[in-house]
Amino acid sequence: MSKIFDVCIIGGGASGLAAAVYIKQRNKNISVAILERLSRVGKKLITTGNGRCNITNSDEALSHFHGNNAAFAEYALSKYDNEKISEFFLSLGVPFYYDETGRAYPKSLQASSVVDALRFSSDALGVDTYVDCQVTDFVRTNGFYRIFTKGGEFSARRIVFAAGLYSGGVKLGCDGGFLRLLKSKGIKTVFTTPAIVQVKTETDVVKSLKGIKVNASATLIINDSVIRQETGEVLFCDYGLSGPPILQIAREVERQKGDKKIRLDLMPECELEDVISMLKLLKNNLAYRELSEFLSGALNKRLGQSIIKAAGFKLSEKVSQLEDKDIEKIAKIIKKFSFCVISNTGFDNSQVTAGGLDTNSFDDKSMRYKLDNGVFAIGEILDIDGDCGGYNLHFAFSSAFCAADSILKEYSDDKN
Ligand SMILES: Cc1cc2nc3c(=O)[nH]c(=O)nc-3n(C[C@H](O)[C@H](O)[C@H](O)COP(=O)(O)OP(=O)(O)OC[C@H]3O[C@@H](n4cnc5c(N)ncnc54)[C@H](O)[C@@H]3O)c2cc1C
Repeated sequence: MSKIFDVCIIGGGASGLAAAVYIKQRNKNISVAILERLSRVGKKLITTGNGRCNITNSDEALSHFHGNNAAFAEYALSKYDNEKISEFFLSLGVPFYYDETGRAYPKSLQASSVVDALRFSSDALGVDTYVDCQVTDFVRTNGFYRIFTKGGEFSARRIVFAAGLYSGGVKLGCDGGFLRLLKSKGIKTVFTTPAIVQVKTETDVVKSLKGIKVNASATLIINDSVIRQETGEVLFCDYGLSGPPILQIAREVERQKGDKKIRLDLMPECELEDVISMLKLLKNNLAYRELSEFLSGALNKRLGQSIIKAAGFKLSEKVSQLEDKDIEKIAKIIKKFSFCVISNTGFDNSQVTAGGLDTNSFDDKSMRYKLDNGVFAIGEILDIDGDCGGYNLHFAFSSAFCAADSILKEYSDDKN
């Protein structure tokens, strides 16, 4: 005998838990089950924001969201802005703290408190949670969905796809099976790639700079076109580049073909002319030194030496030998230190997946599948991904609340 529910939510992550709690807070009579593949709910959520959970952001501009049709997210984001998300979490006992950049975190600064709040509320409100319960198939019969899982069979009048995607790797939930299942049923998808992810570059230079952090402006250039530029702390790694600006610009690395490079401006606060003037001054003051020391007061020492070598000089040469054209060459490299891009570091290292279910097939107000009115999709499984800064959890929650509103309305309409 299968267990029968009004709503079965496939996936007990950020969006699935939030949808279940939201529905039950407003109508206890609707029976809701969460079917979760892993042994616990919220496994990805607990790793977010380096364990602190950057849950939303005070700047919700649509430009922070991406996808083939990013405007799909607009309704959900405006209906459920960061204040509405904050109200919801306050109702679960989690007040927010906003940092100086507008990023919001639970005041506890612990992602575990967000998972606990959702989990305890969902239990208290009577949501039935089934773990080790991977959904392997579903069919629609007589107005119900029969859902087949590794933990038995379920029936539901509505199903919500909240199964997330590949970010963080299989251990955090997604093995790709569910998206394949939906594809096999004819639901349209947009190809998936990692986003918010580190970048592998040619390693001859970066390897020698491993561990150095520098405030820089990073630009992704594909086939000589500037794709995106971000400024912040860039980290040199043995495989390539990391740090917030790199994660932010990495989205298109696998989505576009062509010659790709990342260009670092190591003195983003200065124009080229200012850098040239500064280097001329340094030359006058340090004429007696070797080039190995020329930039050591202006840049990290190892980085400065790399620049000197990239300009074609030996570290043992004297500063006094530099001519004006040499100074200009060094200044240009400081402003445009370029690295050939090889790839990103893959889904296991990414914080979000670009691509997913084609949003053209879903209604942006209710998150309902246009070809089957009992089916909804929320969160990362949809082809919407946000920037670093709390945007992905924001969309997970706001889309969950939109779907929940629509389900609640149907049940109240049925009653009247
Ligand atoms: C390391 C890391 C840090 C991050 N930090 C942040 C951050 O600070 N701020 C931010 O906004 N975003 C962050 N993100 C992104 C954010 O966590 C996700 O975008 C968000 O969790 C998506 O929510 P979701 O409900 O769609 O999917 P998930 O939270 O991934 O939940 C999906 C659930 O579905 C389950 N599932 C999958 N397939 C099946 C199946 N067939 N049957 C049953 N269950 C299934 C999975 O096990 C999983 O529990 C981070 C991601 C990672 C990996």
